[in-house]
Amino acid sequence: MAGSHTTPWESQSLDPVVLKDLRLILAPERVSDEPVDRLTYAYDATRKQYPPQAVLWPETAQEIAAILRLAGGRGIPVYPRGGGTGLTGGSLATRGGMVLSLERMTAIRNVDKSNRLVTVQAGIPLGELKTALQKQGFFYPPDPSSAKTATLGGTLAECAGGLNCVKYGTTKDWVQAVEAVLPTGEIIHIGSKARKSVVGYNLLQLLIGSEGTLAVITEATLRLLPFPPHRGTFIALFDSVTDSARAVQRMLDSGAVPCAIEFIDRRSLEAVNAYRQDAGLPVVEALLLVEADGYDSSRVEEETHTFAALCRECGATRITQAQSAQERERLWDIRRSLNPAMYAQAPFKTNEDICVPLSEIGAMLDAAYAIGNKYEIATLCFGHAGDGNIHVNFMTHEEEDSRVDSAVAELFERTVALGGSISGEHGIGITKAPFLELELGKRERQLLLDIKKLFDPMNILNPGKMNLE
Ligand SMILES: Cc1cc2nc3c(=O)[nH]c(=O)nc-3n(C[C@H](O)[C@H](O)[C@H](O)COP(=O)(O)OP(=O)(O)OC[C@H]3O[C@@H](n4cnc5c(N)ncnc54)[C@H](O)[C@@H]3O)c2cc1C
Repeated sequence: MAGSHTTPWESQSLDPVVLKDLRLILAPERVSDEPVDRLTYAYDATRKQYPPQAVLWPETAQEIAAILRLAGGRGIPVYPRGGGTGLTGGSLATRGGMVLSLERMTAIRNVDKSNRLVTVQAGIPLGELKTALQKQGFFYPPDPSSAKTATLGGTLAECAGGLNCVKYGTTKDWVQAVEAVLPTGEIIHIGSKARKSVVGYNLLQLLIGSEGTLAVITEATLRLLPFPPHRGTFIALFDSVTDSARAVQRMLDSGAVPCAIEFIDRRSLEAVNAYRQDAGLPVVEALLLVEADGYDSSRVEEETHTFAALCRECGATRITQAQSAQERERLWDIRRSLNPAMYAQAPFKTNEDICVPLSEIGAMLDAAYAIGNKYEIATLCFGHAGDGNIHVNFMTHEEEDSRVDSAVAELFERTVALGGSISGEHGIGITKAPFLELELGKRERQLLLDIKKLFDPMNILNPGKMNLE
């Protein structure tokens, strides 16, 4: 169900002179102020709606540079947008202006086999890129569950995590260089093919995770690995969440590194079974989906065996190992559908992606359920347990529910008190903006504000996001 927001800009068209100028920069069919396009590009996966005044589909960095120069001269907000799968409202046109969709910028420029690098335009859907690379024997590890639709640029802008960060880290660990357009319209190239560089401040990493507030990323050069051909995958069932949290810790302490440890609680299992007939997952207090991968089949087998034995020692009542690639893919497909499956429980979802130190996973889960109980909100938890990144979903029947506001505030306070972060991978956007200072403090937030001003003196690029004003 969509949350519609009336903004003063909703009924206002863009100045016809601006539209005319935009049609001199882009082919006319790549500039639209048609109601159907304004509505289509009004939302992201938060299901909140903020219709922009126009939608633009550039194809080159030069076109984006010209658009930003025009926008800067007239003070018109510009919102970079990839696949619109963001979960914090980052791409939404909250102040009117123009959505800049990168969906036509999908070219794979070059696969540099000897340096194991790929250079690619930012609008390519991540899944399409990963499949194309796999066909050539390469592996680009970042793997958010939304990979089919999320774009490379969106994953860079959010520093997306996903299913295998426990072994491979997050997006920032795989970016070697980017081409980006500054809000002033200058095109910059940061990074090189050199694996190491300590020249100046790390501007490359400043852009990764900047949520489209500092620059539009148009192209990136990414590090690759040879594709690991062997995998061992199993599910372990637990009668208690605490036992499953202990098993996570034991596996991580074992010396071997699983590529994924995903946690799913009882209510989430019920939700996914209700959402898709073919799921048929056993309903228990906690399920762990564990995978080992690598280049040596006997080693992968041995590691899988070790992880399963540790789960048993920690109280797993059943272990079921995937016996074929199809079975394994089915399990991951079910896992990937958890986010939409939550709506089987109630029409409105507030999804938080808190991340805590590994030693605090059990305590954090206890706290999340206690907060849900206190405010009488259905609380479903799943997530990347191997990173301590738990997705807490508060499900409600009304979009505006003050109980949820109180629950989220308490959840974040508890997270920070446990030494954690209010966002492990989804970013701040608009939904978490009021809490930026809770984690960063005043001085650190002021540094962020100063950086934003330096990059974007006119405040035209994704204004109002991340509480940067
Ligand atoms: C079902 C589902 C599962 C998900 N699972 C995961 C998960 O496992 N891990 C995870 O990390 N996230 C996950 N997400 C969240 C989301 O997919 C990621 O945040 C993703 O990185 C967003 O990519 P996008 O292309 O859809 O970006 P959008 O939603 O279009 O935009 C997100 C932000 O990036 C900015 N942006 C987009 N493109 C550019 C660009 N080229 N240059 C500069 N800024 C840009 C936008 O302005 C906005 O602030 C999930 C979402 C859904 C709906």
